[in-house]
Amino acid sequence: MAKYKLFYPPDPASAAFSTIGGNVAECSGGITGLKYGVTRDYILSLEVVLADGSVIHTGRKTLKSVTGYDLTRLFVGSEGTLGVFTQITVKLLPLPEKIETLLVFFATPQDAVRTASQIISNNLLPRALEFIDKSSIDCIKGYKQEIQIPAEVHAILLIDIDGREASVKTETSLVEKIAMENKPLRVIIAKTPKERDTLWEVRRVISPALYNMAPFKINEDICVPRSRILEALHRIAEIHKRYPALKVANFGHIGDGNIHVNIMHEEGEQQKMMAEKMIEEILRTTVELGGTISGEHGIGNVKSAFLSLEIPPQELRIMKDIKHLLDPKGILNPGKMFV
Ligand SMILES: Cc1cc2nc3c(=O)[nH]c(=O)nc-3n(C[C@H](O)[C@H](O)[C@H](O)COP(=O)(O)OP(=O)(O)OC[C@H]3O[C@@H](n4cnc5c(N)ncnc54)[C@H](O)[C@@H]3O)c2cc1C
Repeated sequence: MAKYKLFYPPDPASAAFSTIGGNVAECSGGITGLKYGVTRDYILSLEVVLADGSVIHTGRKTLKSVTGYDLTRLFVGSEGTLGVFTQITVKLLPLPEKIETLLVFFATPQDAVRTASQIISNNLLPRALEFIDKSSIDCIKGYKQEIQIPAEVHAILLIDIDGREASVKTETSLVEKIAMENKPLRVIIAKTPKERDTLWEVRRVISPALYNMAPFKINEDICVPRSRILEALHRIAEIHKRYPALKVANFGHIGDGNIHVNIMHEEGEQQKMMAEKMIEEILRTTVELGGTISGEHGIGNVKSAFLSLEIPPQELRIMKDIKHLLDPKGILNPGKMFV
């Protein structure tokens, strides 16, 4: 849409190969979620084929409508369990004039988390605010030698600021000032689009680089209230002490409180079982902290057993009743979402 100076903000890392139907079914989000929200914020209307073969149209093509219940929101994120989307109308936004990127190295995760928190409490809303922990940094260094990260760096923030040229300039210097007040080891601001791309390479390579640690990965995407991110990281580290045979790397959308906790393990049933046990502890802790067990990846088959950790019985009953009403024979994605 760039040629019309418009853009569709939700940007899951899977954008190059995922479909818009899958994005709507999973209510996907991405690095721009802090400023622009997730898929549900951009879906105006849906054509849905129901389990009995009938076709309905939810929502309106207008930007506002409060007529009746919001069925569009019900279907977005329903993981293919309520109907099949055959037409999707999305909302687009004006393309930002300018994007600036900053990469900030810190000696401690505390400095990085404090910086992120101060950026937001100063009423700045970056397009992206990403956190990378020490384990992820070590993997990046082992994976791509040309990415130079000094040994004393224990946490990284990657920040994008977008908007009109003049406001981006002002906001970038404010973000830089906040970072400088939090003992950074280094602040790098990209001067050209190519340099921006190079800075983002640090974030892009994390997922493949994690396989330097171990051959198997379980990627959780917990989300906690922003004020509890540091506590969540601390609690994950405490849980990890009980599973020393496993490796853990945390990175993700710190601006949303959405941390990708990656548990890396070796081959074998025992390692896999240990990883699953550790995940259960992490999910329980997340709920205790007032968070959610999935910020963007959804429940699917893998996490259906944990749904009741977060959703109280009465809400769960309502969800199951809706499923039964729309799909009484249970033919749409059986086994997904509910055990
Ligand atoms: C490498 C990688 C990176 C990822 N990064 C992100 C990320 O950054 N953010 C994020 O949110 N997710 C991410 N994901 C998860 C996933 O890619 C997204 O949830 C994506 O939206 C799924 O889209 P898909 O087309 O691949 O759907 P599929 O995986 O094919 O399907 C997902 C579900 O949607 C249902 N579905 C698909 N199409 C329709 C339709 N037309 N109507 C109704 N139901 C339908 C399917 O039945 C299935 O249950 C990532 C996944 C991978 C593998």
